[in-house]
Amino acid sequence: MRCPTCEERDTRVIDSRDLDEAATIRRRRECVACGARFTTYERTEAARLVVLKRDGTRQEFDRDKLAAGIRKSLTRRPVPDGAAERAADDIEAILRAAGATEVDSSRIGELAMEQLRALDQIAFIRFASVYQSFEDLETLKREVDSLYAEREPETGGARR
Ligand SMILES: [Zn+2]
Repeated sequence: MRCPTCEERDTRVIDSRDLDEAATIRRRRECVACGARFTTYERTEAARLVVLKRDGTRQEFDRDKLAAGIRKSLTRRPVPDGAAERAADDIEAILRAAGATEVDSSRIGELAMEQLRALDQIAFIRFASVYQSFEDLETLKREVDSLYAEREPETGGARR
């Protein structure tokens, strides 16, 4: 670890602290040569997670790409900032907790739909129509009907 100020290799750790439940360790270091102090972060390297795509090819799991796909479905929908990123993080956590090193892309699609279904119904339909490629309009109609059915208790009580 070189000193960012003078590039000296000899530095000494003056403080170590666990962050996010010990997945990351933050270290304060001091350069032995010039005395400059700087911070380093040490993370466990995440195990490989490979996605098996529908066409049979394999690709490294890309959390940012997943977040981008979810964000696209959420365009101009009333959801909090960072909702897509949080959804992608949740999906990655679920996949990694399952312990598999390879996962079908369809499984990721299902998890994304679960997240979106809870987040925003319009976004859910947008995402589902692209990634699930509804076989026909009847399937799409069933999805929409089931969403309306879930909303009944909520709208039933509202009076104007
Ligand atoms: Zn230095």
